[in-house]
Amino acid sequence: MTLTMENQNSSKLKSIFLPFLSTSHIIPLVDMARLFALHDVEVTIITTKYNSTIFQNSIDLDSSRGRSITTHIIDFPSSKLGLPIGIESFNVNTPREMIPKIYTAIFILQPEIEHLFNVLKPDFIVTDMFYPWTVEVAEKLGIPRIMFHGASYLARSAAHAVEQYAPHLKTQSDTEKFVIPNLPDELMMTRLQLPDWLRSHNQYTDLMKVIKESERKSFGSVFNSFYELESDYFDHYKRVMGTKSWGLGPVSLWVNQDDSDKAARGYSKEEEEEKEEGWLKWLNSKPECSVLYVSFGSMNKFPFLQLVEIAHALEDSGHNFIWVVRKNEENEESDVFLEEFEKRVRESEKGYLIWGWAPQLLILENQAIGGLVSHCGWNTVVESVNVGLPTVTWPLFAEHFFNEKLVVDVLRIGVSVGAKEWRNWNEFGSEVVKREDIGNAIGLMMNGGEEEIGMRKRAKELSVAAKKAVQVGGSSYNNMVELIQELKSIKLAKVQA
Ligand code: UDP
Repeated sequence: MTLTMENQNSSKLKSIFLPFLSTSHIIPLVDMARLFALHDVEVTIITTKYNSTIFQNSIDLDSSRGRSITTHIIDFPSSKLGLPIGIESFNVNTPREMIPKIYTAIFILQPEIEHLFNVLKPDFIVTDMFYPWTVEVAEKLGIPRIMFHGASYLARSAAHAVEQYAPHLKTQSDTEKFVIPNLPDELMMTRLQLPDWLRSHNQYTDLMKVIKESERKSFGSVFNSFYELESDYFDHYKRVMGTKSWGLGPVSLWVNQDDSDKAARGYSKEEEEEKEEGWLKWLNSKPECSVLYVSFGSMNKFPFLQLVEIAHALEDSGHNFIWVVRKNEENEESDVFLEEFEKRVRESEKGYLIWGWAPQLLILENQAIGGLVSHCGWNTVVESVNVGLPTVTWPLFAEHFFNEKLVVDVLRIGVSVGAKEWRNWNEFGSEVVKREDIGNAIGLMMNGGEEEIGMRKRAKELSVAAKKAVQVGGSSYNNMVELIQELKSIKLAKVQA
């Protein structure tokens, strides 16, 4: 079919991206939005003022490159709800009593967002899983809704299997192991490692049901993953859900090619505390593959006793380390301890503490980094794979325990510290992993044994696969092209109708 000039112009796709109000959901979805802009799609990201500070630097960079991407700011109803200015998201420092108010705010914003969809007339929308209502809005507008999942295909498949077969109800205790049924691999877990909403019924269980229904009614879903990373689970997930899905990852690798992108990413001016040059100078003074990168993502908090165990384990390991830590408003003792620890390890030149936000992409690609100690947040798993590094896995909340299974049991690029208990993201948790267990896992990853050699080899192979996935002809590249083609055909069919 030959396109007329008018058809060609109107074939440029117009999209809206709607990230959830939490840093770890915003970062990958904004990277994805930028990826669509890179592929000549017109992109508008809808968010509130303070959430936009997390990524606006990246959008400005992309705009200066001539890409069609903008942020549309909506007012967060702080005063209506008696919320302090600037509290607009679910983050580690969000005071507990304010969490329900933020949910209310999201509810209040719904009509305004719906109105914006009407006014901006996108050809399709990509919305976070936590906005299931957008599928109905899209239906009314006659446009596809694509749902963004912040997790891995393995994690979603495992959660689905637990919901369906309830294997945890057949065990005698919270600590007895069971196999998650009907998955491509034999993955074992305990009841205590399951998210609370899967262990027993709560409000979140209902929400997850609504989300799943909305996914089934959506045009499809997109993940920050790539086929070669979890091919069996990608196929399995599509089969059991009966939906279309596209792995478009690693998004951070694809869209943040320059150092300016990597430095800008996720970096909020609000958290400007770290003297930027310090860590880089320190890292550059260290031998290749000698430094541990210790970070537990954007949401973690640990009880004082756990911080003490981590600190001792790191110091006793004898390896160099960068540890990303946070001020803890609820426990001054922790801050004092960490400050003293920081002084000591700076003097010995063994360790470097970054307070607040670390430029993770830049740090991970530094040749001095030899491995991670990580909570298995999905984005960090993908980012560790990008750079071909092994991980000491220490799952905490959300779907981290499932991700650990992928890293340790399926891909065999990690060693577990042996965390036993899932907690909520806003809780300190009661489990304290002992310094010996942390130390043993670090030893297996860093002391040059056979296990380490195998892990490094596999991690390097995955890194090569990650890079190929986003190049012309690679799996994620092809997925992107296919998805855009499908969306264009839908648009064209509407224009011609
Ligand atoms: N991140 C970062 N610096 C930090 C903490 C996190 O750049 O100090 C980025 C990290 O690169 C990743 C995301 O924030 O892209 C965290 O997502 P992840 O899924 O790993 O963990 P979560 O924050 O959801 O627990």
